[in-house]
Amino acid sequence: MATIIDDTAGKERQLNFLEEIIENHIAETDGRIQTRFPPEPNGYLHIGHAKSICLNFGLAEKYNGKCNLRFDDTNPVKEDVEYVDSIKEDIKWLGFQWAGEHYASDYFEQLYLWAVELIKKGLAYVDDQSQEEIRLSRGTVTEPGRESPWRNRSVEENLDLFERMRKGEFADGEKVLRAKIDMAHPNMLLRDPIMYRIIHSEHHRTGDKWCIYPMYDYAHGQSDSIEKITHSICTLEFDVHRTLYDWFIEQLGIFPSHQYEFARLNLTYTVMSKRRLLQLVENKIVRGWDDPRMPTISALRRKGYTPASIRAFADRVGVAKRDNVIDLSLLEFCVREDLNKIAERRMAVLDPLKVTITNYPEGKTEMFTAVNNPEDESAGTRQIPFSREIYIERSDFMENPPKKYYRLSPGSEVRLRYSYLIKCEEAIKDEQGNVIELKCTYDPQSGGGSSSDGRRVKGVIHWVSAPHAQKAEVRLYSNLFAKENPNDVEEGKTFLDYLNPDSMKIIEGFIEPSLQDVAPGSKFQFERTGYFCADPDSTPGHMVFNRTVSLKDTWAKIADK
Ligand code: ATP
Ligand code: MG
Repeated sequence: MATIIDDTAGKERQLNFLEEIIENHIAETDGRIQTRFPPEPNGYLHIGHAKSICLNFGLAEKYNGKCNLRFDDTNPVKEDVEYVDSIKEDIKWLGFQWAGEHYASDYFEQLYLWAVELIKKGLAYVDDQSQEEIRLSRGTVTEPGRESPWRNRSVEENLDLFERMRKGEFADGEKVLRAKIDMAHPNMLLRDPIMYRIIHSEHHRTGDKWCIYPMYDYAHGQSDSIEKITHSICTLEFDVHRTLYDWFIEQLGIFPSHQYEFARLNLTYTVMSKRRLLQLVENKIVRGWDDPRMPTISALRRKGYTPASIRAFADRVGVAKRDNVIDLSLLEFCVREDLNKIAERRMAVLDPLKVTITNYPEGKTEMFTAVNNPEDESAGTRQIPFSREIYIERSDFMENPPKKYYRLSPGSEVRLRYSYLIKCEEAIKDEQGNVIELKCTYDPQSGGGSSSDGRRVKGVIHWVSAPHAQKAEVRLYSNLFAKENPNDVEEGKTFLDYLNPDSMKIIEGFIEPSLQDVAPGSKFQFERTGYFCADPDSTPGHMVFNRTVSLKDTWAKIADK
């Protein structure tokens, strides 16, 4: 069962554990706060990264500190400038600006010199074993590992071999540099961890300058130290790495950065590892990294999410010390809340049923005034055309309605939003008995919201004038996965077995004229339907809209329970 978080955003709340740590730090030191966000440029950022961005940049902002952007580009095989560019775009879009832009690859020379220093201190050695042999000799949690036959090479030999590794004299996998710590250490990561491996591959920034690359554990803490990071915040799975992080810094006697861990963000009906997201893209299961069904920041942006909604979400989720899964409906709640304030209202009919108003003059067009945003008076009004033929939603008519159905049925009356009261006189059917058109009459005294005899009509429905309406492609999305936790893979299956076959439905609807040719990215509430965002696939005369989120608020229902 997914965790439901209290609706406490905006209200006064207790400090989270990281804020407590930082406030203590400020009290005990000069108060300088420096954080960093350290993505590996091997994919697009997702909503989990957004959580980390909001945390690192947010803490720096709150405590007058600075936050760096550091690309953790230590694996040339998987990394690319395309990803670097998208990461920068996403962070800026979220509303944050980094103090320094750094690359772990800028530190390769320094990292190399420090490795040489560790060799000289007898704390690192070149191992000729294969990575597989090293893995097998590492022991288990209950048994110590076996020392490498190359563990006791002389400092001179190690220096010579390491230099020749750098020069490219050896093939991939032929040698590695390992820290000399303790093959019986209770923390397996300290059993002589690999510091460098040989990879003859072009790096997106350093080209072919290097053919030895530092491992995460050796590069990360030292990069933090170079940038004088005071609080190196990362996700929980790194807590076992902390001892090693501290070990390198201590042996080198460099600036003492410290690592703190928080629980990573998990969302229901979503996968969030870049490796899996890449699979979805490469197997063309989605249309790209920014396919609105993806949990990436670029996909959420395309779908119509606002930066404010994502920041509010990160805030509500809070900072936990234990892993949990957040209900996707909380994210939807946050975007609905923001769009309700800022999105202008429009009328669009997504499943059209034609209505002819038989007592309305043929060829006549009348304009009615519609309010753009009842939450924001400054958004003003617009004019919408009305005529004898209109479209309404098919679901707004029922031949044999149940009680409390306040929309159209034979003989019943409804109000057309901003316009007249109409009464259903007859439903026209095709040969199969499907209703294909309604014949209605209108009350000429009821225009713009008032009826002649003051009678109250409960139902108000949206509509578009048929001769003025434009056709538009509307993409309706639902969860990409049918299983609440697609990461929980049963034997013999993969996460791809849990895809929802109906995650995207493309329909053709009718939009009011003011929606024609709006700029991609424009956001609207289609009245009574949901929030929609114009897609960049739109071309002149052919609009494409993505449904950001429906109006139905499952979150509010859950919160009520
Ligand atoms: P993935 O597993 O999705 O590939 P990653 O951790 O390998 O993610 P990085 O580029 O290394 O991706 O992550 C950059 C930063 O974002 C790291 O500090 C990482 O801890 C943080 N981060 C990644 N995923 C999440 C998440 N789901 N929730 C919170 N923070 C995250
Ligand atoms: Mg990573």
